[in-house]
Amino acid sequence: MPVTREICLNLGGRPITVPIRRHRRARQITIHIDASLGGAKIIMPLYAALADAKAAVREHEDWLLDRLAKLPPRVSFADGAIIPFRGVDHRIRHVPGVRGVVECVDGEIRVFGRAEHLSRRVTDWLKSEAARAISPLCVGKAEKIGRRVRRVIVRSQRSRWGSCGANGHLSFNWRLILAPDSVLDYVVAHEVAHLLEMNHSPAFWRAVQRLTPHMERSREWLNGKGQQLYRYG
Ligand SMILES: [Zn+2]
Repeated sequence: MPVTREICLNLGGRPITVPIRRHRRARQITIHIDASLGGAKIIMPLYAALADAKAAVREHEDWLLDRLAKLPPRVSFADGAIIPFRGVDHRIRHVPGVRGVVECVDGEIRVFGRAEHLSRRVTDWLKSEAARAISPLCVGKAEKIGRRVRRVIVRSQRSRWGSCGANGHLSFNWRLILAPDSVLDYVVAHEVAHLLEMNHSPAFWRAVQRLTPHMERSREWLNGKGQQLYRYG
């Protein structure tokens, strides 16, 4: 059972809070840059001392400050912000008015209604667009392998793009709607393939390949750029 805590340090003249995750299988203390957190995190063995974690951060202070400075800035959902939608940059435009709707027209995500609701409305809209894109893909791909999807859930997930429960429920990270369609297609194929193989065996990867032509490139994309999707909102 991982216990989450954090350490606070003064680095380069400013206070920095670094969350800690303890892992049963961690052999040593490691520092990671996590774009979804907009900062660093520490992974350490269950019984390692917090003082040792602090010492590790101090030891890598220059490296850490350098990497933190290079983290891409966060992009809030606000009027004028550019965000990717299905892998294509779109501009958010606020349209004052009474109707609280969102529509995607000519490369713009137009958000009607009051400004104070804009951010939440964009998030809700992206989540519903994600569900609208993902659900039929799940059904179609499951049919191909003679399985049935019991339920598709789209939600916020901090560290995963998707998951497949033993009950046949498939869950997906709503941020996938920001990624190119080919990447979304791969993640759906991956989770649907788990309905056949609840592991990552060669047979599993063969099933994924049957379900999407985008496996290799999408895995590369997620490894290289996936974390960037956490910058938005
Ligand atoms: Zn998997």
